[in-house]
Amino acid sequence: MKTILEAKNVTKTFGTKGNVYTALQEISLEIKEGEFVGIMGPSGAGKSTLLNIFSTIDTPTSGDITIDGQNIVTMNEETLSDFRRKKLGFIFQDYNLLDTLTVKENILLPLALSKTAPAEIEERVNQIAELFGIAQIVDKYPYQISGGQKQRAAASRAMIASPSLILADEPTGALDSKSAASLLESLSKLNVSQASTILMVTHDAYAASYCKRVIFINDGRLFKELHQRYSTRKQFFQQILEVLSLFGGGHHDVV
Ligand code: ADP
Repeated sequence: MKTILEAKNVTKTFGTKGNVYTALQEISLEIKEGEFVGIMGPSGAGKSTLLNIFSTIDTPTSGDITIDGQNIVTMNEETLSDFRRKKLGFIFQDYNLLDTLTVKENILLPLALSKTAPAEIEERVNQIAELFGIAQIVDKYPYQISGGQKQRAAASRAMIASPSLILADEPTGALDSKSAASLLESLSKLNVSQASTILMVTHDAYAASYCKRVIFINDGRLFKELHQRYSTRKQFFQQILEVLSLFGGGHHDVV
């Protein structure tokens, strides 16, 4: 299986001499094509820092990262923005839809700059909207739809250009449990049917139970890894809770 993301000894420090804070320490990990991987850990563990680095919006202090075979650490800004547009898809907690565009226009944005023919764009939008169960609302504006529908629109936008890697930052953070379940069902269905590769940061054990593998980080270091393999989702959820309990109290954003 092709390697989509490879991080080697990624370290990130903040601050200046005498006042250095290490947010990530020697993180190495590999993500293969078609994986659905969760990243969990207590507040302050370094999850956002790691995701920002993989998103290419922040750089590591040391270490190497390749995404789809390209070294993103040594890339210049111009190449990076092209790389982001072509290779990465983003899903954020607060959707980041453009309010002045319809759902359909939001979804097709990643293709707008490509040379894809209008008829094909139309077909792809309809196809992905169908898969996410929002086909009947594509002509509405974001203010006319629910949070769950907004997130499914955002996920459609993230996936429409078939990026090498989809990065999701607390995608269910603002959703009620029913909308969260529906989003996660769609994401895992697409993960299987389109062999898309998804990396999702979440503090929600229920959301993480949809992943095939969960990587736990604590104090900027890799702490543990769980594979779903032969467990049911319910069993996997219990295994995730057990690891989270090792982090102990005081971390209230950990379920
Ligand atoms: P998480 O997402 O797991 O809650 P973060 O990646 O946000 O953790 O933060 C990891 C650590 O790095 C925290 O202690 C945080 O205070 C610190 N940190 C994050 N960003 C910065 C920054 N820009 N400057 C200084 N410290 C930062």
